[in-house]
Amino acid sequence: MDAEQSLQVLLNDSHLSADLKNIAQKVLNNERITFDEGLLLYEKGELSYLGVLANYIREKRHGDKTYFNRNFHIEPTNLCVYDCKFCSYSRLIKQRSEGWEYTMDDMLDIVKKYDNEPVTEVHIVGGVLPQYDMPFYQQLFSSIKAHRPELHVKALTPVEYHYIFKKAKVDYATGMRLMKESGLESMPGGGAEIFHPEIREQIAKDKCTADQWLQIHEEWHKLGMRSNATMLYGHIEEYRHRVDHMERLRQLQDRTGGFQTFIPLKFRNKDNQMSNVKEVSVIEDLRNYAVARIYLDNFDHIKAYWAMISRTTAQLSLNFGVDDIDGTLDDTTKIYSMAGAEEQRPAMSTKELVELIKHVGRHPIERDTLYNVITDYSNYEFAEQKKPQFYKLPVIN
Ligand code: SF4
Repeated sequence: MDAEQSLQVLLNDSHLSADLKNIAQKVLNNERITFDEGLLLYEKGELSYLGVLANYIREKRHGDKTYFNRNFHIEPTNLCVYDCKFCSYSRLIKQRSEGWEYTMDDMLDIVKKYDNEPVTEVHIVGGVLPQYDMPFYQQLFSSIKAHRPELHVKALTPVEYHYIFKKAKVDYATGMRLMKESGLESMPGGGAEIFHPEIREQIAKDKCTADQWLQIHEEWHKLGMRSNATMLYGHIEEYRHRVDHMERLRQLQDRTGGFQTFIPLKFRNKDNQMSNVKEVSVIEDLRNYAVARIYLDNFDHIKAYWAMISRTTAQLSLNFGVDDIDGTLDDTTKIYSMAGAEEQRPAMSTKELVELIKHVGRHPIERDTLYNVITDYSNYEFAEQKKPQFYKLPVIN
């Protein structure tokens, strides 16, 4: 049975309540659902119902295509002037001994390590510290582009930009233009957490506000550039806060069209100030992906980070609206593992990632940051891996 037939079965199900049937009909008619209907999906939508709706939208947009990219991460520091309660990553300045602070040369050396690797993107994000100011990042971006012009620089979130622009006394529009001129090509989606002040005040009160986060993305989009958006879910927020979060994103996207991908991030409770908060189940993860796919009708892509939620949940998520499972990573990020993610050393070869996608009947596509197709792996044969060569060395006593 294909995705549309499954949706028709749902519509003919006499046990389904009228309000849920009405939402299913809207999905079939390609109509937008309201805030209250989004809330209803969270409150009353069972996993199977949500899966049918989300998969219908996913397959209508992308068929079986499932995207990934080959990237590496640079995390300049894990020290931070802020103190977000959910953060397992940052070591406050008073715990400096547990932290790292890369210099410009350290970061350029990481870039050079990939000189002969077919990566298309460097993803730069980390903590906020005074020495990483606007001139520092301008120089970093322009040095990366000078060294390897085709490498796409996806870097920093409004949390960093708000901080460095304030310090440099430039407004958001000027700041984003100057970053673009230095080589910035797109913005990742972090720092959004939960926009609603009732929750943001409790978990991330010092850093940029929801409005500031949205304004910085808006200025970036006005320059014709693209970015992503995240939502940290499954902690102290209620369903209405999640819908509110997505509603603010949907409204901005209506104005600019600059977002590419929405990425729900699961709250993990290891080693942070919210360790007493229970994590939500995998079922709730899947329900959340599905509601996001249904609600955000103007976002092209929904992404699941396999390194954060585990390989098997990532496979499952492909039936719940997800069409992107991020990148090969190559063990270059500590953000997930320090937060207690399933993958403590997140690295997957292209072959492994392709097989992971094919195993669940989907169609693997390697993309660049802007979703241009690099390689279609549906019928791709990987070359036999060469066995390592061992040479006899002379014995020296
Ligand atoms: S979430 Fe980001 S801004 Fe907040 S403490 Fe952690 S590193 Fe700093």
